[in-house]
Amino acid sequence: MLAYLALAAVAAAADVAGAVLVTSAHERHRVPLRYFVAGGAGFMLAAAFVRMLPESTHVPHAFLFVLIGYFGVHLFEHTVAPHFHFGEETHREALLRPSAGWLAVVGLGVHTLFDGVAIAAGFLVSPALGVLLFVAVLLHKVPEGFTIASIMLAGGHSRGAALAAGAALGGLTIAGAVLTGLFAAQQVAYALAVSAGVTIYVAASDLIPEVNREGGPALGWTVFGGLLFFVVADWLLAELGGH
Ligand SMILES: [Zn+2]
Ligand SMILES: [Zn+2]
Repeated sequence: MLAYLALAAVAAAADVAGAVLVTSAHERHRVPLRYFVAGGAGFMLAAAFVRMLPESTHVPHAFLFVLIGYFGVHLFEHTVAPHFHFGEETHREALLRPSAGWLAVVGLGVHTLFDGVAIAAGFLVSPALGVLLFVAVLLHKVPEGFTIASIMLAGGHSRGAALAAGAALGGLTIAGAVLTGLFAAQQVAYALAVSAGVTIYVAASDLIPEVNREGGPALGWTVFGGLLFFVVADWLLAELGGH
C-alpha cells in the first residue's frame, strides 16, 4: 500500500507544480506543456486499450463500468462545471462568475480522484501495471494543475486560491488511491474498468482535441511519441517485474 500511496503523492505534487507554473507566470515555461498533453494522450490511450481494458474484462459487465467512467467525466467536467477545457484559460468572456472556478475544481476533481484509483487498482493487479498507470497519470498532471490554476485566475481568484485548487486536485488523487486500497481491493477489476473509461475520456476527449486545436505536425507527432514511450515503458517493466 505504501508503494502506490507514494506514487499517488508524487502525482499530486505534479498538480501543485502545474499550479505554481501558472501563478508564477513565466511565459518561457509554458510551451513544453502542450507536448506533455500530446505525449500523455498517446501513452494514456495505449495503457487503457492494451493493459487496463484486458485486465478488467475478467468480471461481468466490465464494459458497462468503462462507459460509466467515460460519461462520468463528461458529466462533471462539462455539465456541472460551466466552462472547462485543458490548457490555459484565455476565454475571458466565458468566465464571468468566480463560482465557475470552484465548479471546475469539482468537475476536474472527479477525474483526478480516478487518477488515484487507476494507480492503486493497477498496483493491486501487479506493481508493473501500477507503475505504468502512474506514468500515464504523471504525464498529464502538470498540464492539469496548470489548467485549474489558470481557470481560477481567469475567474478573478487570487494566486493563493489558484494554488489551493491545484492542491485540492492533488489531494483528491491521494484520496482515490487510499479509498481504492480500503474498499476496492476485492473489486479491483471494476475499479480498473471505471478508471479505464475515465482515462479514455481524458485522453481522447480532453487532451487530443487540445492537440488538434493547437495544431502543427510536431505536436501531432508527439502523440505517437507517447505511444512509443508506452511500448518502451511496458517492455522495460515486463523485463523487470513481469505482468
Ligand atoms: Zn476557455
Ligand atoms: Zn488527471
